[in-house]
Amino acid sequence: MKILVLNAGSSSLKFKLFNMIDLSVLATGMIEQIGDDLGHAKLTCNDDTDGRQETEASQVIPDHSSAIRLMITLLQENNVFGDVNELAGVGHRVVHGGEDFRKPVIITDTVIRSIRKLVPLAPLHNPANITGIEVVMAKVPGVPQVAVFDTAFHQSIPQHAYLYALPYKLYEEYKIRRYGFHGTSHAYVSKKAAAYLNCSYKELKIITLHLGNGASAAAIDCGQCVDTSMGFTPLEGLVMGTRSGDLDPAILFYLARETGMDLGELDNLLNKESGLKGICGNNDMRTIGKMAAAGDAQPLLALEIFCYRIKKYIGAYLAVLGGADCVVFTGGIGENDTKTRARCLQGMEKLGVALDLEKNDSQIDGIMEIHREDSLCKILVIPTDEEFEIATQTMELIG
Ligand code: ADP
Repeated sequence: MKILVLNAGSSSLKFKLFNMIDLSVLATGMIEQIGDDLGHAKLTCNDDTDGRQETEASQVIPDHSSAIRLMITLLQENNVFGDVNELAGVGHRVVHGGEDFRKPVIITDTVIRSIRKLVPLAPLHNPANITGIEVVMAKVPGVPQVAVFDTAFHQSIPQHAYLYALPYKLYEEYKIRRYGFHGTSHAYVSKKAAAYLNCSYKELKIITLHLGNGASAAAIDCGQCVDTSMGFTPLEGLVMGTRSGDLDPAILFYLARETGMDLGELDNLLNKESGLKGICGNNDMRTIGKMAAAGDAQPLLALEIFCYRIKKYIGAYLAVLGGADCVVFTGGIGENDTKTRARCLQGMEKLGVALDLEKNDSQIDGIMEIHREDSLCKILVIPTDEEFEIATQTMELIG
């Protein structure tokens, strides 16, 4: 029997098929540019006998329901998934669970209604997640489905950390508060860190840094998330590929008055045209790193701003936690970009965080230990695997 995991973004769909016995990966896939003039799909099958096999397809993929049908066709055509009855369960990453969902749940009509009610809080993501659930329900009726919420891990954050200093009735009436995102990743890597260090998760103070196109930090105190950098939406906090992260909200009033930009334009500016891209015109860290190394001033500045913000959050979370046992880097940048890691942690030795530059530069698959022997705080690089975490939680729920 198999477990299928779906991770739908606003214009993409990632999926992984696991063998239920040992949670080994049978196939992974990605469908991108959903809703664009031309969409692309890629499926990689791990075959016991032939090794890896890749299949690619380019065609118009108008919406998420077409994407899911294409995914099922690709899986069937490539014989990873002969009969849909082989499916024991389907796990969905659902971006926004609001205050209703503190943990994963088996999907029922009531759960779908609750996820739909939260659409105003995640207008790009929750509709795609609901489509995924409904298409699967129609294609494979009766197969249990589980929703794993990106926000759930952060529901343990105390009120003084999740409330904004706005009139309290805005929280009561509109639920304006910090929710936090990337929860599945922060949960996965922090638990992995405890297992790697051979310590009880419930006894460790951990700072996790998920640095990808989207980026966020979390402070985890004895197994409970107590703060995170993303807020009411994923726009707050660290500098990201195209998102500004923290800024003075008065900039928006000023820009509206001075330039006549409307709400849609300001939204686009902060979410799509800012961050690394806003500073140097590029949001791919590999390119930015190369350009900065070649002496290009603007990419170097983008890097400095990106790393300085991370450093400030690490400092803040060291204060929140009263010191940390471990800092974890993950995400495309956190796992691979040695220069970013070094820049973020520079000069933190007196705070007990001492990076070993040589270990930081080594390339090892899997978990990497990059702290100095004398560092009070361990520093780990842990590849994230949100789909594996979703598969595990789906298995736990469906029994
Ligand atoms: P997403 O948030 O879209 O899942 P990822 O976690 O895949 O993003 O991270 C994407 C970022 O990781 C990009 O900025 C990319 O340039 C960067 N990245 C990926 N591989 C490397 C690498 N080897 N060195 C530096 N940066 C990398």
